[in-house]
Amino acid sequence: MEELAIHGGTPVKTTPFGKGSRFAGNELKYLKEALEQNTLFYWFGKKVKELTESFASLYGAKYCMATSSGTAAIHTALGAIGLTAGDEVITSPVTDMGTVIGVLFQNAVPVFADLDPDTYNLDPKSVEAHITPRTKAIVVVHLAGNAADMDPIMEIARRHGVYVIEDCAQSYMCRYKGRLVGTIGDIGCFSLNDFKQISAGDGGLVLTNSRELYENCFKFADKNYNRLANDMAAMRKVEYLAPNYRMTELQGAVGLAQVEKLPDVCAKRNRFGERISEELRKLPGFYPPKVYEGGYHTYWFYLFRIREEETGFTAQELVDMLKAEGIPALKGYIPACIYEYELFLEHTAYQNTHCPFDCPHHPEPVVYEHGICPSAEEILETSVRINFDEFSTEEDLADIVHALRKISDYYQAKKKS
Ligand SMILES: *Cc1c(COP(=O)(O)O)cnc(C)c1O
Repeated sequence: MEELAIHGGTPVKTTPFGKGSRFAGNELKYLKEALEQNTLFYWFGKKVKELTESFASLYGAKYCMATSSGTAAIHTALGAIGLTAGDEVITSPVTDMGTVIGVLFQNAVPVFADLDPDTYNLDPKSVEAHITPRTKAIVVVHLAGNAADMDPIMEIARRHGVYVIEDCAQSYMCRYKGRLVGTIGDIGCFSLNDFKQISAGDGGLVLTNSRELYENCFKFADKNYNRLANDMAAMRKVEYLAPNYRMTELQGAVGLAQVEKLPDVCAKRNRFGERISEELRKLPGFYPPKVYEGGYHTYWFYLFRIREEETGFTAQELVDMLKAEGIPALKGYIPACIYEYELFLEHTAYQNTHCPFDCPHHPEPVVYEHGICPSAEEILETSVRINFDEFSTEEDLADIVHALRKISDYYQAKKKS
């Protein structure tokens, strides 16, 4: 039996994790071309257009438009469907604030549905239970690179006449029953922030097959100016409020080069994640994320659950033991469900008012408190996150798997003795 590093044994990981340069492809070439255009404005230059064309073609989607961030992409999608005061949007409580920022800026109310214990994504039954006459859309988060159960969600949405917006900020190239997520709902939204599978520093992408939604998105991200009209009077016919979420040609240039690498980056993450899952299935009390038949998980991070009764240790104890073995790990994904953030608990989206939670357009009470999504809360308490990327080596992978097995074997042997 190997002595655990946390008890003074030799750590598993003795070599540094693999590293590499993310921007060593065509980034510099395209940036130079962008600068030589003598304009960095998306409407006059070519790079943002090339980026959106290449992304739409990679995804087999009819339309793609670019925004300044993933948060902007989601807000743009919400603006495009006409989200407004008094509306509700059902979404996941385990996500980035970017999922709900646009909802709040449209003065609509986020409603949190509970999660499936094995995919950590929206549970369709809970989604349906939260539908009211005010529900305008469901924002489906595909967490960590894994698909939510889209078939029942789409069925529920169609039956109730609500839009489905997919938040794919963590889930490039992820597939659900063979289909790319981001092309299943009405609109798919992606992030190019620096921490995602690919980066343009910041940036966002919106996919849709609807000409009408595409035109609405295009306008909404650009002050509601209708540049597609190509006529000054029509362009400045501004009917309602919209922000400036334009992407610059510099982001477009880097994003274009990054999209070229996307399938390879995601294939590597998929292979590493699947290998770890294969090992975890053999260890008592370890539960890898569930991937639906025909699915493809692209592991923006690797999140799995443990059951203390079977493992003999908690998620936090496993994190500490992994760290001692030289494998960085974290408990859960975020410290608490987002409805436990002060903004929600105190209804303080806007200062000196409780809008949109208590306002004439939404007279029904809105309650955010601990306990409203028990499965989501339990997921955060009992899960562990491990990171790897396209530069991780076979040795890194072997060490991650070895450390997990070493810790599990030690506790299982202790149980028997
Ligand atoms: C990163 C992220 C966002 C926001 O993207 P930004 O580009 O940082 O604005 C939204 N939703 C999810 C699930 C994310 O992970």
